[in-house]
Amino acid sequence: MINRIMESVDVKLGIKHILERVEQSYLKRSPGNRCAKPTLVAVSKTKPIEMIIDAYSAGQRHFGENYVKELWDKSTNELINVKCPEIRWHFIGHLQSSSVNKLLKVPRLEMIETVDSLKLANELNKKWGNISPSKPLKILVQVNTSQEDAKSGVEPNTVVDLYRHITENCKHLIPDGVMTIGKFGHDYSTGPNPDFVCLLECHKNICDTFNLSPENVQISMGMSDDFEQAVEMGSTIVRVGSSIFGYRPKKIDGANV
Ligand SMILES: *Cc1c(COP(=O)(O)O)cnc(C)c1O
Repeated sequence: MINRIMESVDVKLGIKHILERVEQSYLKRSPGNRCAKPTLVAVSKTKPIEMIIDAYSAGQRHFGENYVKELWDKSTNELINVKCPEIRWHFIGHLQSSSVNKLLKVPRLEMIETVDSLKLANELNKKWGNISPSKPLKILVQVNTSQEDAKSGVEPNTVVDLYRHITENCKHLIPDGVMTIGKFGHDYSTGPNPDFVCLLECHKNICDTFNLSPENVQISMGMSDDFEQAVEMGSTIVRVGSSIFGYRPKKIDGANV
């Protein structure tokens, strides 16, 4: 039964449709918006290798996973390595100290989108320096834009401090921008999503403080339900899962959002 459901999802067509919708939304940006053109990260968590290979064969290169063990298993899978030599992995989950060693050994790790503390930044910096001293690792600072206790991320007013710390003290990391998950189910008839507004403010503060050009600082926001609004506002990385790969049953612990 499960197999039949998965077979009925046309992943290649899904990628094509999402890319078209991203492009349409990108064209709707206001003329003054200087944010970079968005990259689609296909969030493949809980989905099988075959679907990743399908998406890859449709031209998709960036994939996101939020559990270290699952990312490890997929990124070291033989079929993936034969069929998807240019795949790039984004880690988008909450990162525990105990999983850092394993995560950093993931082949073709493109970036860690969820750096949310000074301690974690220091640890990643130290360990990545041992693994790959000549090629720094890209990271995003995760911001708790909705200020919900249960969500990870730094407070919006401390983003610049963490960014400065990484810039000045973590030479093996490249602070590449900001990321938020945000609150679910925003009602767009009430106006723009406050999480996106908040993340754009963080982005502006970083650009102003460090004298960076807006197009060089990434903004990772927008998922299946709201990536179009996110792109229109300036998102440069959208993380889309279920709209490409189909419905994902929730895990019992609710962690699988
Ligand atoms: C699961 C997940 C996504 C994708 O969610 P969809 O609603 O399936 O598109 C995006 N970002 C993060 C951090 C996730 O955990």
